[in-house]
Amino acid sequence: MAAQRPRLVVISGPGGVGKGTVVRELLRLHPDLAVSVSATTRQPRPGEVDGMDYHYLTPAQFDALAAQDAFLEWAEFAGNRYGTPWTSVAKAMAAGKTVVLEIEVQGAAQVRQRFADALLLFIVPPTREVLLERLRHRGTDDDERIGRRMALAEAELEEADKFDHVVVNDTVDGAVTEIARILGR
Ligand code: 5GP
Repeated sequence: MAAQRPRLVVISGPGGVGKGTVVRELLRLHPDLAVSVSATTRQPRPGEVDGMDYHYLTPAQFDALAAQDAFLEWAEFAGNRYGTPWTSVAKAMAAGKTVVLEIEVQGAAQVRQRFADALLLFIVPPTREVLLERLRHRGTDDDERIGRRMALAEAELEEADKFDHVVVNDTVDGAVTEIARILGR
């Protein structure tokens, strides 16, 4: 008998590994998946749209929601807070979709505790050098910030063994194909 498909899929991995691009392509190819829009206290980057990329909140707004238990998980990352609103997940699930959370590793650990049957995927770069290059080429961060993000990424890479599957993001197409295979699609 085929294994039951998970209803909640976490895609995690170090910042800069290209999770966002992989998730966008995965959803384009598989419309029965839906991505949850997170809330964050960080400033929008150029081109990002409120309500689509994130719900941008002030720290006070974020804390008020956290105090009301409005987040399925939340974590502090690189000086900002990020969280998955329950409302965003419930809406997609009610529509019969499998929900994908693109989140960092502390949040992934919280999901594991709350939902034993969630599927946790960890995306890694082919090499550390490639990750550094990707962080540099993002072009929105200064050197100090890149250094901090790289140190964080190194620490996050240590968490890979807590996940169900590790996927190497050598090419976007390759990573997406591998994830689709793991998800039984
Ligand atoms: P960025 O600032 O580059 O958009 O995101 C920084 C990190 O926060 C990324 O690793 C991203 O996956 C993660 N992130 C985005 N949304 C959430 C969320 O709702 N919860 C958690 N725990 N991490 C998130």
